[in-house]
Amino acid sequence: MLKKIQISSLPSEVLQIWQKLIDHNYQAFLVGGCVRDLLLDRKPKDWDITTDALPEEILKIFPNAFYENRFGTVGIKTNSEDETLRVIEVTTFRQEKEYRDLRRPEEVIFIKDLETDLQRRDFTINALALSIDGDIIDLFDGIKDLKNKIIRTVGDPEKRFREDALRLMRAIRLACELNFTIETKTFKAIQKFAYLIQYIAHERIRDEFNRIIMSRNAVIGIELLRQTNLLKEILPELDRCYGVGQNKHHKYDVYLHSLKSLDYAVKKNYPLYLRLAVLFHDIAKPLTKQGEGPNCTFYGHEILGAKITKRILERLRYSNEIIKKVTHLVSQHMFYLEIDKVTPAAVRRLVRRVGQENLEDLFKLRHADRIGSGVPKAEPYRLRYLRYLIEKVHLEPITPKMLNINGYDLLNLGVPHGPKIGWILKALLEEVIDDPTKNNKEYLIERAKELKDLPDEKLKELALIGEEKIESIERQKEEEIKKKYKV
Ligand code: ATP
Ligand code: MG
Repeated sequence: MLKKIQISSLPSEVLQIWQKLIDHNYQAFLVGGCVRDLLLDRKPKDWDITTDALPEEILKIFPNAFYENRFGTVGIKTNSEDETLRVIEVTTFRQEKEYRDLRRPEEVIFIKDLETDLQRRDFTINALALSIDGDIIDLFDGIKDLKNKIIRTVGDPEKRFREDALRLMRAIRLACELNFTIETKTFKAIQKFAYLIQYIAHERIRDEFNRIIMSRNAVIGIELLRQTNLLKEILPELDRCYGVGQNKHHKYDVYLHSLKSLDYAVKKNYPLYLRLAVLFHDIAKPLTKQGEGPNCTFYGHEILGAKITKRILERLRYSNEIIKKVTHLVSQHMFYLEIDKVTPAAVRRLVRRVGQENLEDLFKLRHADRIGSGVPKAEPYRLRYLRYLIEKVHLEPITPKMLNINGYDLLNLGVPHGPKIGWILKALLEEVIDDPTKNNKEYLIERAKELKDLPDEKLKELALIGEEKIESIERQKEEEIKKKYKV
């Protein structure tokens, strides 16, 4: 069921601009994605008004208007709190001729009728217009396709994809975001002209790709990219994973394993960079595979994988920040500690190598990897145990160093070199544990003067009480951490 659009309930920023154009005797319609989204009861990402007013006429009417680009799209600034309403795009009815570079129309011809403008739009569900009286203008059965959840080009799909190859990606992105299917002819045309995507700027491919993997249908999206031949154009490295069999630790081939892992990342709502790390973590397996069957190996795939991931992300013009994070996670995803033999030093080395700030992400990647294997081993316990070890090595030890007095101070008080120094410090520490306010030099000096005159036996006894207390506190802390990680 499509939603009935109530004009009066639309954002006032949109209504004001729209009404003003009408008041100046121009035609004006809400058009494209926002009409589609309103009918689907989704919040529009941006608002587009189309009109027969020429750009300079629009600029004259609205003091806050500016040219958005050289194709005569005018943006009108509002003061909205809502980011999606901050700039409303007003575009003159147009016809686009001669798509010579498959990206941008060579020439824009402004026209006076809405019908021709709707004809140039990519998909039927994006070619709907709404009049200010609340009537839907639907020349290409967009409403029917909305109801049936279908992505279909306006007019001949082959011609439309040849005109502008970005539409190849847009079809799949829209199918993923809206949970729609791609109509057969449209689908076949994408398969046929997938190679044209090479003419599209990497940034624009990346933006569509991001929206695909951030959607709830990310996994279907990657599979659609593969089936339409787009994957081998935009991510040949991932396409190559298809059908590459794995060893006994895995149920799926490398490609399917990557998708199953991504599926987990989507369910857990991982952010973009983590989804990228999950998708690419085994990208080098086809190149590092040795042997066949249940005992084949992939030595070093995480190192080569990090390199390949970097190359992919650079090619698609991701930010340096994302490139750094994702490649680091890929390079570290094979970390291994033998839990029963592990030393505090080994745990410290791991933390240093991975970086404290990346540990959580690495564990998340590892979870997705494990679930995506299809034969998850009992790693949750190991991971919990590792977390416990990490927190444990980070515990500040309780030592006499924490005191605001040291051995030299005691020597200055006339305590002789030898074990007595240690006994006094431990006795002092015991007092400070009970009452941290006592950890000030003045008090400690006075107290040390008293202690130094005690007989050795008495002093040893106090030191021992101190030691026992420290041990019991440390045991208690350890128990707490164990409980926290259920180990
Ligand atoms: P969203 O706003 O959710 O990204 P959208 O479909 O609104 O999706 P926009 O980029 O905002 O995408 O474009 C607005 C409208 O312009 C589309 O609905 C469509 O009618 C038209 N359009 C956008 N890109 C193309 C294209 N490459 N070819 C033809 N028409 C397009
Ligand atoms: Mg839009």
